[in-house]
Amino acid sequence: MSRVFNFSAGPAVLPESVLRTAASELLEYRDSGMSVMEMSHRSRDYEAIIQDAERLLREIMGIPEQYSVLFLQGGAHLQFAMVPLNLFRGSKKADLVHTGAWTTRAIAEAKKYGTVNIVASSEDANFSYIPKLDTKAFSPDADYFYICSNNTIEGTRFTVWPDTGPVPLVADMSSNILSEVMDVSRFGVIFAGSQKNVAPAGVTIVIIRKDLIGAAMEITPTMLDYATHAKENSLYNTPPTYTIYVAKLVFEWIMEQGGLPAIEKRNIEKANLLYDYLDESTLFKGTVPREDRSLMNIPFVTGSAALDDAFITAAAKNGLVQLKGHRSVGGMRASIYNAMPVEGVQALVEFMKRFESENA
Ligand SMILES: *Cc1c(COP(=O)(O)O)cnc(C)c1O
Repeated sequence: MSRVFNFSAGPAVLPESVLRTAASELLEYRDSGMSVMEMSHRSRDYEAIIQDAERLLREIMGIPEQYSVLFLQGGAHLQFAMVPLNLFRGSKKADLVHTGAWTTRAIAEAKKYGTVNIVASSEDANFSYIPKLDTKAFSPDADYFYICSNNTIEGTRFTVWPDTGPVPLVADMSSNILSEVMDVSRFGVIFAGSQKNVAPAGVTIVIIRKDLIGAAMEITPTMLDYATHAKENSLYNTPPTYTIYVAKLVFEWIMEQGGLPAIEKRNIEKANLLYDYLDESTLFKGTVPREDRSLMNIPFVTGSAALDDAFITAAAKNGLVQLKGHRSVGGMRASIYNAMPVEGVQALVEFMKRFESENA
């Protein structure tokens, strides 16, 4: 069996060269005589790895000095609680744009600690678009303003950041961090689980403006206080050492590709290959209006559940796997993260054309 084109939404495809480097260093990392998995997180070798990871991420994203970069655990889900616990410091009110399954989870968690004001929602159409925002609905006294920048399940993405004035903008970027050039200084907090565009599952990246650290609610457990981790450079307790090591390899790979401008260009080309075909196909249809389309997660349907199933089965036999859509949208979803080569998208489109001609 050779490697397939893996369209999984997450955990997801990693760059093959990264996997090869990890394999070559698996038994003995450089001249340490041991695997990274076996290393103390306080060893000199490991400290170099985690420091390199942070340095590379700062360079790639252009993260300003007044931001901390944290490597945490608990996934994006734990951030749904950590963000309110740490940022509810005044009105205990958060503004939020409701765009799908992941904001549903974030709302439920934030409500345990304060008030969530939904400034706009696309729930009326199964979250298939990004709602227009009216700043009159914003709360000037909100402690933060929350969005999910790319909706992994519904296939939508913000292309313009809400203008929240002095209210810190918080973004769940789990499925589109490092996919395009972004101005970090527009945000108070950016967080992302690793298993979409960064590494295997296990580490959560938090990029947070330093003035937002240090005023957590009193009930906040030590481990959920950003200050705990910021003070100790993510080494307060044992971090997910091996995942951070693979993240470092992925960051090196991004630099070799030419950084985010080159990655973004390639991601647009890849997404357009599939969207252009969906726009002309008489069998397959995209589910998201053009202006809100994700570059990373592309849902599409035939309109017939039986045909969808037949397509998914036939595609898998041809080495195009994990194309089943999320149950809330149905049909198919192709996740085409940074590490999906353009050849994978080309192979998918060719296969869809063949399937269309055979099922016309
Ligand atoms: C995958 C995903 C999550 C959930 O991540 P976990 O690591 O499983 O907690 C949350 N938000 C977005 C946007 C995601 O893509």
